[in-house]
Amino acid sequence: MRIAKLFVLTIIYCVGIFNTTHLSAQPIPSIDVRQDLKNGNASLAGDWALNWGEWTPLAIVNSPESKFKIVQLPNFVSTLVDEKTLNKYRFGTYALKLKNLKSTFKEPVIRMRNVNDAWQAWWIDESGVTQYLGESGKIAKEYDAQQMRFKTYILQLPKNDDSGTLVIYLSAQLYSRAGMYGAFEVTELEQANKSLLSDLASRVALIAIGLLVVFQNILFFIFRPKERVLLLLAMFAFTVLLRATVSTDYAYYLLGDPLLFDVLLRLEYITIVWPAVAGVHFFSCLYPAKYSDLMIKLGYTVVAIVVSFTFLVSLQQVVSYLLYYQVILGIFSLYTLWLIIHSIIDKSHRSTLMFVSGLILFFGVINDVTAALSSSYNLYLAEYTLFLFLFAQTQYHSLRFVSALDTAEHLTDNLQEEVAEKTQELSSRNRELEDKAKYLKIQNDQIKELSETDHLTGLFNRQTFDSYFELQFSEAITQSKNLALVMLDIDNFKKINDTYGHQVGDECLKAVAQYLKQANLRKDDFIARYGGEEIVIILNNTDIKSAQEICQRICDGMSRITLKPELNSVVLTASFGLAEVKFNGANNIDQLLKSADDALYKAKAQGKNQVITAVPA
Ligand code: GH3
Ligand code: MG
Ligand code: MG
Repeated sequence: MRIAKLFVLTIIYCVGIFNTTHLSAQPIPSIDVRQDLKNGNASLAGDWALNWGEWTPLAIVNSPESKFKIVQLPNFVSTLVDEKTLNKYRFGTYALKLKNLKSTFKEPVIRMRNVNDAWQAWWIDESGVTQYLGESGKIAKEYDAQQMRFKTYILQLPKNDDSGTLVIYLSAQLYSRAGMYGAFEVTELEQANKSLLSDLASRVALIAIGLLVVFQNILFFIFRPKERVLLLLAMFAFTVLLRATVSTDYAYYLLGDPLLFDVLLRLEYITIVWPAVAGVHFFSCLYPAKYSDLMIKLGYTVVAIVVSFTFLVSLQQVVSYLLYYQVILGIFSLYTLWLIIHSIIDKSHRSTLMFVSGLILFFGVINDVTAALSSSYNLYLAEYTLFLFLFAQTQYHSLRFVSALDTAEHLTDNLQEEVAEKTQELSSRNRELEDKAKYLKIQNDQIKELSETDHLTGLFNRQTFDSYFELQFSEAITQSKNLALVMLDIDNFKKINDTYGHQVGDECLKAVAQYLKQANLRKDDFIARYGGEEIVIILNNTDIKSAQEICQRICDGMSRITLKPELNSVVLTASFGLAEVKFNGANNIDQLLKSADDALYKAKAQGKNQVITAVPA
């Protein structure tokens, strides 16, 4: 991981001042590749000749009077050069004699790794013939004319030379501390290609995982916008992915365009700072702690400043401030580390996962520090472990997300079930209530009927008659309507009782009541049992003449009342007393009642089974 590497290299840079040999006028050192062969590679990490200033012409490099300083790789040339020289020239000439090439390798190549700034490589054979080997971009004395590219480059050495001098011109136009670091190795072309491919494959896998992490979290966030952590994780992963992509040599190798290179390089510097701030934001959201909000705000302010600065000033200036970028990275990384440690100490519910995945990341960083410090060990892992870390976090959050969805679904199901249950319960209870209401209404009607009617005949009782009659009478008076009152009394009822028994008497009473009910009276006419075998009929809106006709019709019809066959001999007749409000000039109820009663009495007296109208007063 470049971030860690740059950080570590900065430390080495400072230490490097005391780490170089201060020699001059030395002959070009040589390396016997056969002697240094280990696992198919010959390390070039020993002494190199270095001349700093204007680049040294090839003819002079090979001449006996050439004077060099001797340095050990990895090295940082700027530490050897005073400011004045650096400002004037900014070039280094490195030289190293290689022996036993042909007898050791079939197709010898040099794996060039991590060379800052632009460089150019040449070969001088035993007879002094020079051959161009390759370059990274273009080196030029003018800053603008120089093209810089980072790429893992396989430098092919002449197949037929057993020995010769490797010369590398290195520019420090951009990096004042530019130099060759990391181990150069001579190896077989086939092996170098293989490792290049596997390196590429692992990078592709890394970027694929990064993309997966970003998209997975964005997707989950769309479904679950409340979980801001998902978006933050996506952003964190994105910044790391961006860094991994733009800091990869392959990005430059594939794009190749110098203009784009400039943009990519600036982007790479921004991604020294940005992932650190994104990390602080993500972890602050997971484990909020003291100053979290402040650090997030500060972080984004710093990112804004860094972005503006990086894109506004010249690349050369940006590079001279890179150390500050790394300091910012260091501060925010330390704060993140504190957040993680804090959460582990606090035993937050994610602390186990954080501890395990953080441990992997920690070992990755330790590995990179070791790799950066060592000239023979070059495997950098922190970048991969960081992705592993992000991947683990994402899977954890996605699991949480899925289980939350499950729970929600479960709850919804339960709720639906419960609602259905309750609805059913309510509707059945409603039905029960309806039934009860119906029952009560029936009962109420029954009670009303019972209280209003005479239970033997089913006619209205005396009480009902009293209140109804009072109502009708006052209405007839106030509205000047006709109101006829009929009083009838069954003739010789005592005799029926005496002859056939009380039960038959009751039967007869019922039969008369039934007959009256069906006597084609109008709806608002009113029949009630007045007492004993006396019945009253109120005829609304009926004048005396019509009332007489009705009474007569009823009287005549009495003979048609059918009884049980064994009671054939019973003769049912009744006497009728009739009075009418207007006709009789009744001023009150009692007067009308008395008139009708008198008429009834007269009917009895005159031989029964007839209708008598009360004489007007
Ligand atoms: P009249 O033609 O003059 O009316 O002769 P009557 O026999 O009908 O004379 P009265 O009105 O004096 O007698 C009524 C009898 O009716 C007396 C009583 O025993 C009988 N009665 C009254 N209420 C009932 C009843 O609910 N059921 C039965 N079976 N008899 C009743
Ligand atoms: Mg009577
Ligand atoms: Mg009678």
